[in-house]
Amino acid sequence: MRSVEDHLSAVLALGERLDAEQAPVGSGYGRTLAADVAAVVAVPPFDNSAMDGFAVRAADLEPGARLMVVGDIPAGATSVPWVGPGEAARIMTGAPMPTGADTVVPVELTDQPSGAADLPATVEVREVVTEGRHVRGRGEDVAVGDVVLPAGLRWSPAAASSAASLGHGTVPLVRRPRVAVLATGSELVAAGQPLGFGQIPDSNSILLAGLCEGWGAEVAMVESVSDDPAHFRAALARAIDADLVLTSGGVSVGAFEVVRQVVEGDISFDKVAMQPGKPQASGLLAWPDGRRVPMLGLPGNPVSVFVSAWVYARPLLAKLGGWSDAWPSSLLPATVGWSGPEGRRQFVPVKISEEGVTPVHRLGSGSHLVASLALADGLAVVPEDVTTVAAGETVTVHAL
Ligand code: AMP
Ligand code: MG
Repeated sequence: MRSVEDHLSAVLALGERLDAEQAPVGSGYGRTLAADVAAVVAVPPFDNSAMDGFAVRAADLEPGARLMVVGDIPAGATSVPWVGPGEAARIMTGAPMPTGADTVVPVELTDQPSGAADLPATVEVREVVTEGRHVRGRGEDVAVGDVVLPAGLRWSPAAASSAASLGHGTVPLVRRPRVAVLATGSELVAAGQPLGFGQIPDSNSILLAGLCEGWGAEVAMVESVSDDPAHFRAALARAIDADLVLTSGGVSVGAFEVVRQVVEGDISFDKVAMQPGKPQASGLLAWPDGRRVPMLGLPGNPVSVFVSAWVYARPLLAKLGGWSDAWPSSLLPATVGWSGPEGRRQFVPVKISEEGVTPVHRLGSGSHLVASLALADGLAVVPEDVTTVAAGETVTVHAL
């Protein structure tokens, strides 16, 4: 049996970071910034007022000083008056500072009312402020050329607003990985459809598509196909635009393992020392046009699919998409005891509470326990050489 680490290395070796393309700053959230982004405009781009008030010369300021008001400068003003000695200009927050003035006296520190009011002929300064006060200098925040957004950053609304402020309309983002999800099984029917004899609802395709989308991938195709090799082959052909093909089922040792029978390329079928998720297929599909595209053939049991997706598909997507595959974990006490298999790493969906972690099903890690999966908010990991976890013992738990 292959270790979890060895299988993960083999999986990660299947792909490289995808190409980047220019994208509008306000799009592509969750994608990765491919290059450093430096300021092309200063922030702020011009000296401006931080307050609603009066732009003045600090030298004129003394309590009771009365200044001549020579102009009005709203935000967006395209020209500014000259403020000479003994003069002031009314100015609003974000408006450009007039030449000659070096300081802003907030309206509250003058004899003028705040709010909508006619431009006064003069203004009396009631309280003095220090020179330069309430003026935001050009480039005070960021100078032209400063790198503010580092390559590798995961694109977010905050990053987008920052890029816009730095003067950018587009940024280079790594292409979002396109995933094709293919559930196999002649017993499967679509969610909500009546079940005939021997049939079950297809839950894996929904699970995989949703997980991949949540991790930041684009789900380009979701299908459920029978175990008829011709069906599977045809569906696979429709996945040709995908950057990653994810299948479920058909990789173990039964008589009708369609993935095993059909896939062409450099695909290896392994037994991985884990529970659930022992049978795993992985490799590069060979497309007719000569391209080779990563494929992970996950087992069919829904809990195996869930665990395998978190352990292998998630980091591979992170590599393709260029974002971090960090998976935070903590040590938490088990509230109850359970047992695990000798020689295989056990992944147990658990509920996390104040008391610790509790398997979401009394049977622990059984790979068919799809009904309880929704309650899990963690995946406990029990090492290969540990066969029993006692109540009160600490286990490593990854967040889901
Ligand atoms: P397989 O690996 O194809 O032998 O499937 C293992 C088990 O998982 C069988 O009991 C299947 O019925 C079940 N299974 C396979 N695919 C799905 C699916 N898409 N949704 C729900 N259960 C499935
Ligand atoms: Mg099957």
